[in-house]
Amino acid sequence: MTKRLFIKTYGCQMNVYDSARMADLMAPFGYAVAAGPEDADLVILNTCHIREKAAEKTFSELGTIRRYQRAREREGGRMIVAVGGCVAQAEGAEILERAPFVDIVFGPQAYHRLPEMVARAAAEQVLDTSFPAEYLPETFAAPGFSAFLTVQEGCDKFCTFCVVPYTRGAEYSRPAAKIIAEAGQLAAAGAREITLLGQNVNAYHGASPEGGVWGLGELIGALAGIPGIARLRYTTSHPCDVDDALIAAHRDVPALMPFLHLPVQSGSDRVLAAMNRRHTAGQYRRTVERLRRARSDIALSSDFIVGFPGESEADFRATTDLVRDIGYAQAFSFKYSPRPGTPAASAPVQIPEPAKAERLAILQALLHEQQRAFNQSYVGEVLPVLFEKPGRHPGQLVGRSPYLQSVHAEAGAERIGEIVPVTIRAALPNSLAGEIAPRAEHRA
Ligand code: SF4
Repeated sequence: MTKRLFIKTYGCQMNVYDSARMADLMAPFGYAVAAGPEDADLVILNTCHIREKAAEKTFSELGTIRRYQRAREREGGRMIVAVGGCVAQAEGAEILERAPFVDIVFGPQAYHRLPEMVARAAAEQVLDTSFPAEYLPETFAAPGFSAFLTVQEGCDKFCTFCVVPYTRGAEYSRPAAKIIAEAGQLAAAGAREITLLGQNVNAYHGASPEGGVWGLGELIGALAGIPGIARLRYTTSHPCDVDDALIAAHRDVPALMPFLHLPVQSGSDRVLAAMNRRHTAGQYRRTVERLRRARSDIALSSDFIVGFPGESEADFRATTDLVRDIGYAQAFSFKYSPRPGTPAASAPVQIPEPAKAERLAILQALLHEQQRAFNQSYVGEVLPVLFEKPGRHPGQLVGRSPYLQSVHAEAGAERIGEIVPVTIRAALPNSLAGEIAPRAEHRA
């Protein structure tokens, strides 16, 4: 009999990818993905510690799940409840103590043992937050046209605001041969675009097929040669790990899309040092200049934290100056919020909430204006769009431009999976709308 599996995913693309693989892992055991938790036999919360008050929100969500679990029990059934991801890694046994109805708690690097944990949960509560000596993801079997592929896990940078080095462990790069083999499988299953994932993806330094070591630039060069792969992306990058080979890949590999998420967090050297980011604003600017010399149309995105402990008005102005100088196609910006266990959480000078809110509003107004202008600059232009799925309206498809903009256009469902030239007719705040250009008959 088919069992129902509901996974609620929070946070980054790594978690989205991990959730998809959990569904793959459970499918051979008769679990089909359900739309909601109500009647599920197995509910997994795949959590993210980056969210504000992440642990409290997880316990609140568990309260809701408990109501569904009780309803199942009243009907004589059983709902297994599991908490995975970074909150599970950070809170561990605390979750089993505070929410004793939870059956399984597992960290981000333990999900490939999920079938075994579910089997054990019949008899006991299961806690698995160990870091394996070697992380070996299995092939992701159902990619769609735009697929994700983990190449690297963990981080050794220890930014003072971030929990990732504590929850995801030390940096580990997968051997290139395994990544190339998986990318080949993804392409054979229909993927046209692959996004390479890692917490600090451009720190990649995996064993090369010849026995040496490759950085991300060399890996991208090899992956671009796989038949069927038309587009490559990678996320999330650290400015210190943009090396010559990666810049050369942006210049020489047409499949590498001209869009890069390169978080800077702050434009102030004082704040960058307090964050332990290991670079200055000037070094970041020079890295961007080198990238733009290599690929003149490259568009950038970034993360920003405002109100970091000790941030002065002058520090904040340095951030808005940097934003004006660089010019971003899109960005994510947040008020600093302390993460328990990180050094910045106990810094003596925390910024008052009203000042943080005011700075965030100023920064977001600037970033939204840049995003609007970037999108507007493509009105009347033709962009190649990889159609991924039906749009919200009948007869409409939605896909991505090279610059990761969502693009809507009228097109038949048979064009899903094709890269189609689209003339952009309108720029909306978060997406573009267009129509298929006359040369659309030429299949990319
Ligand atoms: S580089 Fe990124 S993942 Fe690593 S500690 Fe800094 S913010 Fe966290």
